[in-house]
Amino acid sequence: MVSEKGNDRFWLGSIHVKMTLVILGFVGIIAYVTSISIFGLGAQDAKMRFIEQVGLVETHFFGELADKLSELRLTETLVHHAETEPERLESLQLLALRRASVGQLMIQMDAIMPGRVDAAQLDRFRKAWRRYAELHDRQFSLVNDGSSEDGVRSAIHKAYGDAEQALDILIEDSQARINSEVQASNELSSEIMTTMAVAAAIATCVALLLYRAARRNIFAPLREITEALTALAQGRTDVELPECEAKDEIGDLAAACRVFRANLADLEEAHRVAKIARKAAETMALADPLTNLPNRRALAAKLRRYFAAGEGTPSCALLIVDLDRFKPVNDLLGHMVGDLVLCAVAKRLQEAAARAGMVARLGGDEFAVVIRLADGADADARPAQKMARRIREALRAPIQVADHRIEIDASIGIALSRHAADATTLLSCADIAMYRGKKSQHDPICLFEPEMQGELRRRVDLEKALRRALQAGEVRPHYQPIIDLSTRRLTGFEILARWSDPEIGPVSPEIFIPLAEQQGLILELSTAMLAQACRDAARWPLDITLSMNVSPVQLRDRRFPELLLESLRAHGFPPQRLELEITETALIGDVDEVRDILVRLRAAGIKVSLDDFGMGYSSLNHLRQFRIDKVKIDKSFTCTVFEDPESALIVRSVISLARGLRLAVVAEGIEDERTAEMMGLMGCDLGQGFHFGKAVDGDGAAALARPQGAREAAA
Ligand code: C2E
Ligand code: CA
Ligand code: CA
Repeated sequence: MVSEKGNDRFWLGSIHVKMTLVILGFVGIIAYVTSISIFGLGAQDAKMRFIEQVGLVETHFFGELADKLSELRLTETLVHHAETEPERLESLQLLALRRASVGQLMIQMDAIMPGRVDAAQLDRFRKAWRRYAELHDRQFSLVNDGSSEDGVRSAIHKAYGDAEQALDILIEDSQARINSEVQASNELSSEIMTTMAVAAAIATCVALLLYRAARRNIFAPLREITEALTALAQGRTDVELPECEAKDEIGDLAAACRVFRANLADLEEAHRVAKIARKAAETMALADPLTNLPNRRALAAKLRRYFAAGEGTPSCALLIVDLDRFKPVNDLLGHMVGDLVLCAVAKRLQEAAARAGMVARLGGDEFAVVIRLADGADADARPAQKMARRIREALRAPIQVADHRIEIDASIGIALSRHAADATTLLSCADIAMYRGKKSQHDPICLFEPEMQGELRRRVDLEKALRRALQAGEVRPHYQPIIDLSTRRLTGFEILARWSDPEIGPVSPEIFIPLAEQQGLILELSTAMLAQACRDAARWPLDITLSMNVSPVQLRDRRFPELLLESLRAHGFPPQRLELEITETALIGDVDEVRDILVRLRAAGIKVSLDDFGMGYSSLNHLRQFRIDKVKIDKSFTCTVFEDPESALIVRSVISLARGLRLAVVAEGIEDERTAEMMGLMGCDLGQGFHFGKAVDGDGAAALARPQGAREAAA
C-alpha cells in the first residue's frame, strides 16, 4: 500500500523532493551571487594591478626621465656659463654623469615599457633624444676644444624641446589611461555592488517566499496535526482536523488523522454499544424477558448465597407456584393473551409477596417465591403456608385481558431451608411438594415433608441413571412411520427416544425428557439420537425423511444450529431430509433469538414443523413469523374428532389455515382406519399413529422402509 502510494506520487507530491528543490534553489542563488562576486573581484583586481603598473612604473619612469633630462639641460647651461676653468671642468664632469644616467634610463626603457604606451610618441621621443644626444655630444666636443657654435646650440634646443614635448605627451597619455582605468574600476565596483544587492534582494525575497510556503504547507499543518493527534491520543474525538489538500506526506498525514479519528469514533461507539449490550445481557441473563422478574438462574444464585452464609442465618421458605388451567388459555386464546396473563400473575405475586422476599419466574407457567422467616421460627411453617394461601387467593381472582375473563388457579409447593442442605435440594423439595399439591384432590398447597424424601431420592436416582444411560448409549431412537394419507405410502419417520433402565425398567419420554431438559442433558441426548438415526437412515431409500423433536431449551442455544449441521455433515446426512418438530412453547418469550436460529437452520435446507398444534389466535402469527413448513395436529384433537364437535371444528380450522399459508398438515394419533379416512377427507396430507405403527427400532424401520416389492418378496 505504502510503496504503491510512493510509486503513484508525482515527483512534486513529496516533501522530500520539494525540500531538495528548495535547497538546490538556495544553493544555486548563493553560487550565482558568489560567482558574480568572484568574477567582479577578479576584474577589479586586474584593473588595480594595471593602475599599479602604469601608475607606479610607467608614470614614475617617464617622470624620472623628464627630471633627468631637465637636469642634463640645466647642467648644459652651467657648462656654458662657467667663468673659470675649474668651474667649467667640474660642470663638464657633472654633464657627462647626467648624460650617462639619461642614457642608462633609455636602455632600461625597452625592458620596462609594457607596450601599451603610445608607440608613435615613444618613437618621436626616441628620435628626438637620439638627435639631441648626437648634437649634445657634438657640441660638447666643441666646447672641449674651446670652440662654440651657435647653430648647434639652437638645434640642440630644438631637439630637446621635441624630446620634452614627446615625453610630456607620453606622461599625459599614461595619466589619461590611469584615469580611465580608475573610472572603469569604479564603475565595475558599483556594478558588482548593484548586482550583489539585487541578487541579495532576490535571494531574500525567494527565501521569504519559500519560508512562507513552507510555513503554510509544512510547518503550520504539521503543528495542527501534532495538536490534533495529541488531542486524539487523550481520547477527544471532537477535535478539528486540519484541512490539508496537499498531495504529499502532509496531506497523507492529515488524511490518516481523519481515518484515525473516524476509527476512534467507531471504536468508541462500538465500546458504548458493547457496554450497553453487556449490561442488557447481564440483566437478560438474570431476568425473565417477559415479566422482568428474576429468572431461575437469579433465584438459584440467591439460594446458593443463602446456603453459603451458613450458621446463624435466619430460616427461609421457598414456594413454587405452578399455574393450573393455563395451557388451555394459551392454546385457545393465543400466546399474546397467555403472555398478558403471565404478566398479570407476576404483578399479583409481587403485590402479595415482594415485601416479604423475592419473586421469580422459573419458566413457562412456573413461579417461585422466597420469603424470610422470623428469627427462631425454625420449625414453624405457618407464615409460609399463610403466604401461600394469600398468593393462591390473589391468583384465583379473575384476570381480564381485552374482553376475556380468565380464571386460573395455582398449585403451590413449600419447602423450608431446614429441609435441604443446598439450593438444588431445596428447589427439588419445593418441586416435589408442588407436584403433590397438584395431584391432591383436597389442597393444592402442600408443605414438603421428609417422607416425600423417598420421592426425592427416586428422582435423584433417576437423574443419575439417566446420566449413566446416556453415557452408555442406552437411550436409543425408535422410529414412528409417517404416512401419506392419499397414497398410504411411507414418507418418513419421527424419532422418539426410548429408554429402559436395567433396574428401574422402561421410563416414559414424558418423564425423562423433562428431566434431561432440567439437568442440561437434552443437547447430549438429542445429539446421540440424531447420530444413531443418521446411521439407521443410511439403510432407507433417499426420499424417506427424518423428523426430530427439538426442546425449547435447545432453540435458545445459539450453538444449536452449528452443532446440528456439523453432526449432519459428519454422518453425510443431507439437511434437506431432516425436519425439526418444535412446540409452541419454544416460541414464547424472546422470539428474536429463536427466529435467528430457525433462519439459520432453514437456510441450510432443514424443514420445520410445529408440533402439538392447537388453535390459537397468535398461532397464525407464529406460522407467518417463523416461516414454518408443516403443522402437526395434536393427537388430543385427532382422537376425539368423531366424539367432540369442537375438536372437529378445530381440526377443520387448522387445515384451512394451513391451506391458506400453503403449509402441509400432519394428523398425529390416528388409531384406526375410520380416523385415517376422515383426516384424509378433511384435507390432512400426512398421518401418524398406532394405526400405521408404533415407534420401532432401527431394524424395524429398515424393514418398513424397504420398497414395496422388496417387502413382499421378503414376506
Ligand atoms: P410427541 O412429539 O408429540 O410425540 C408423539 C407422541 O405420541 C409419542 O409419545 C408417541 O409414542 C405418541 N403416539 C404416537 N402415535 C400415537 C397414537 O396413535 N395414539 C397415542 N395415544 N399416542 C401416540 P412418546 O414417545 O411417549 O413421546 C412423548 C413426547 O416426548 C413426544 O411427544 C416428544 O415431545 C417427547 N420426545 C420423545 N422423544 C424425544 C426426543 O428424542 N427429543 C425430544 N426433545 N423430545 C422427545
Ligand atoms: Ca413430535
Ligand atoms: Ca406431538
